[in-house]
Amino acid sequence: MAHPMRRVAVLGSTGSVGTQTLDVIRAFPDKFDVVALSAGKNLGLLAQQIDEFNPEYVLCEDSEALKSLPGRDCGSLEEMATLPEVDVVMVSTVGSAGLLPTVRALEAGKSVALANKEVLIMAGEQVMDASRRFNNQILPVDSEPSAIWQCMLGERDAVRKLIITASGGAFRDRSPTELGNVTPEEALNHPTWSMGRKITIDSATLVNKAFEVIEAHWLFDMPYDKIDVVIHRQSIVHSMIETADGIVKAHLGSPDMRYPIQYALSHPQRVFNPGLKPFDPVETGSLTFEAMDPQLYPCFELAIDVGRRPGTWGAALMGADEAAVEMFLENRIKFTEIPDVIRAVVDQHTPKDSTNLPNLDEVIQTARWASDTARATVVGSSN
Ligand code: MG
Repeated sequence: MAHPMRRVAVLGSTGSVGTQTLDVIRAFPDKFDVVALSAGKNLGLLAQQIDEFNPEYVLCEDSEALKSLPGRDCGSLEEMATLPEVDVVMVSTVGSAGLLPTVRALEAGKSVALANKEVLIMAGEQVMDASRRFNNQILPVDSEPSAIWQCMLGERDAVRKLIITASGGAFRDRSPTELGNVTPEEALNHPTWSMGRKITIDSATLVNKAFEVIEAHWLFDMPYDKIDVVIHRQSIVHSMIETADGIVKAHLGSPDMRYPIQYALSHPQRVFNPGLKPFDPVETGSLTFEAMDPQLYPCFELAIDVGRRPGTWGAALMGADEAAVEMFLENRIKFTEIPDVIRAVVDQHTPKDSTNLPNLDEVIQTARWASDTARATVVGSSN
């Protein structure tokens, strides 16, 4: 018999999605049980979370500090993701960190609530393959794929097109010529969503949206020419699908990540959370939709073009973007140099024989190479 509680491991528990996951779990103490928590460097918050949720297993980057925390040392994220006591693994890490835990969890029979979208950018084919072979579900946590997933319920064979919405990010009202001098602080000021730093910069460049197109391609087995992106400033319509008869179904709600997190955890049930503000269409008022201006977002086409290529290209894109974003946040490159850095790395990438799917180690190595190469490119050009 299934366990009466859904037992959850949260990988990346002190980040933006991790803390919001625990906020959802806090509202349903009889439905979800936190079995394992992992964090990076934020030991203070991790200690608080351990105190509140009392997980059996814990993990953090600092192995000395880990000894002083209550809970059993898990050894690695992969071991945490495959614990027999776990039903659902929330992968809310960032960058490459979530790849191996995601695949191992699927192979071990777990459902994976996937917030770490880079996993699908790096190895979409391998991850979907593991999901199919082991018959385990990937539960989208990102708000746009979650919206598409929910619109598609009962419509799987009748979907003609996906329409992904984009807020347009921090610089949607700037002209392309103004972007050379924008600061990290301005870029981090997202108009509608409160998220982690990396994804907020990716939203300003629209790399994030390109990643979501690639994510949707893999999750919903949809050809790229059937995935559109539209600028929607209010972030109320989280995405849409068009069905065979031309009907469009949209998913609406407040821009609050706890909704898609909660659905991923409770699926196929729906649960009422009194802590979430209900959606009020009258209070929301007007909704607008605009075409995206490619001049304002040169990273978008670049990221789609590279990210849709097979083999290790996605990993190269991911690593290059990650380093470019970090260097922008460190004030080492301008915002408008982010696409230049990505292009420079991509130009140097020589994938191995593309007839074979790269293994996960090759994928991770490529991402690391791309990050290092991005940094070397910038050091080289400033000397
Ligand atoms: Mg999103």
